[in-house]
Amino acid sequence: MLSGASGSGKSTIVRKLMDRGCFRLQVSISATTREPRAGEIPDGSYYFRTREEFEADRDRDNFLEWAEVHGHLYGTPVGPVRDALARGICIILVIDVQGALNVRAKVPNAILIFVQAPGLETLESRLRARGTDDEATILKRLANARREVALADRYDHQILNDDLDRAVDDLAAILTRHQCGG
Ligand code: 5GP
Repeated sequence: MLSGASGSGKSTIVRKLMDRGCFRLQVSISATTREPRAGEIPDGSYYFRTREEFEADRDRDNFLEWAEVHGHLYGTPVGPVRDALARGICIILVIDVQGALNVRAKVPNAILIFVQAPGLETLESRLRARGTDDEATILKRLANARREVALADRYDHQILNDDLDRAVDDLAAILTRHQCGG
């Protein structure tokens, strides 16, 4: 599982890794009640759901974990995770810290990787450069980042994303070490 503050670059690192073409890796697609951002593909970036739809799925135990992050609900559909693990494929979950710690409680051999941005100033400038969030949301994401970074030492590995290619190499090396490379 990969966590890190908004703007740490975790999704970009995973996308770049998948572009390298690793056949034994799959990325989990989460469900969320947040609105799609420009460029996000429904059922590709996320399964975009209304709160009612999300809560119905949650009540049917369709999520491995779920959490409220920045005022929206996010959850990992359990079916694809079960299928991937049954086929011997590693599945990457890009989820927040609460979600990652909840998954670890259920799946003890899960690997937790935390992506660190070089500093809060960098996070702030990345969030502003992304241009997808209003000021209140940016401030909420920065406050959350401080809380998440404080929990990074509960993770098995940390990756510093000051250089994207090196961060992708670091992630690939960690996965290979855990027999998820290829
Ligand atoms: P964003 O709205 O920027 O895409 O994501 C906000 C936060 O929600 C990020 O920290 C992201 O990792 C987290 N997140 C995305 N999907 C899930 C999920 O399925 N479960 C949990 N717990 N967090 C998620």
